[in-house]
Amino acid sequence: MLVDTHSHLDFPEFEGEIDAIIKRAAQAGVTRIITIGTSVESSRRAVALAERHSSIFAAVGIHPGSAMEAEPDALDRLRELARSPRVVAIGETGLDYYRLPSSRTIHNRVEALANEDTADVQAAIEDGAVKSAQAAIFQGQLDLAAELRLNVVIHQRGDCLQDTLDLLAPFQGKLRAVFHCFGASPETAAMLISLGHLVSFTGIVTFKNAEIVQACAASVPDGSYMVETDCPYLAPVPHRGKRCEPAFTRQTAEKIAVLRNQTLERIAETTTAAAEGFFRFPLRG
Ligand SMILES: [Zn+2]
Repeated sequence: MLVDTHSHLDFPEFEGEIDAIIKRAAQAGVTRIITIGTSVESSRRAVALAERHSSIFAAVGIHPGSAMEAEPDALDRLRELARSPRVVAIGETGLDYYRLPSSRTIHNRVEALANEDTADVQAAIEDGAVKSAQAAIFQGQLDLAAELRLNVVIHQRGDCLQDTLDLLAPFQGKLRAVFHCFGASPETAAMLISLGHLVSFTGIVTFKNAEIVQACAASVPDGSYMVETDCPYLAPVPHRGKRCEPAFTRQTAEKIAVLRNQTLERIAETTTAAAEGFFRFPLRG
C-alpha cells in the first residue's frame, strides 16, 4: 500500500472527479493521499476534502509563491484550520528563489534594455521584498508547526537551500521537514537526512534525463524518503506531460524499486512507514 504524500486535489483540474480519482488510486495500491494547501483558501478546500473522504488527509500552508498575497491574519486562519484532526502537517511552505522579479526582468530584457540600469536596481529591490515576505511567512509557519507539534512540508526551489536551513535551524529537535520534489545531489540528501529530515520523490525520477534524482533515490536509506505525485503536475512516464493524479504514485515507486534493486512491496513498506512516522495519521477522525 502506497501513500501519495503530496498532491493538490483542491486544484480546478480535479473538480468533480475526486471519487473517481480515489478509486483509481486504490486500484493502483495508493490507499492514502495527502492534499497540500498552497494558500489559506486552498488549505480550507484541502481540509474540506479530507473531512469528506477517509483516504484523504490535509496539510495546511502558504506556498512561497503566495507569500506576497498573504493577508496579515493568514497564520491565524491556518491555526484554526489545523484544529481539524484530518490535518497531518503544515505546508507547503519554504522559499522559492527560482522565479524572482529579477529573473522576470531578464525575460523581459527587450523592454528593459532602454533603461537597463534602472530596471536592474528596481528588480534587486523587488527581489529583496519577495525574499523577506517569503522568509516571514515561512518562519511564521515553522512557529505554528512547533506550537501544534506538526511536521512541515517544504518547498525549496532555486538557490535558497542555505537560507532554508538557517530558518529551520532553531527548530532542530522540535519538528522535522520533508523536502518535497527533491532534486538536489545525493550529498545534500544525506546532509538533510542526518539532520532528521526526509526527502520525497515525484515522477521526475522516471524521466530519462533525471540522473541526479535517480542517483539520490538509489542511495538514500530505507525510511528516509517518501513518494509523491505533486499532481496535477509532474506525471511520471508513461503519462509524462499529461495531467498527473495520485494513482501514478505507483509508477514512481516502481521506478524506485528498479533503481534500488528492491521489490515494489519493499518500497511500499518503507515509504509508507516513513509517511506514518512523519504525518502520524489519525486512526479515524
Ligand atoms: Zn506542491
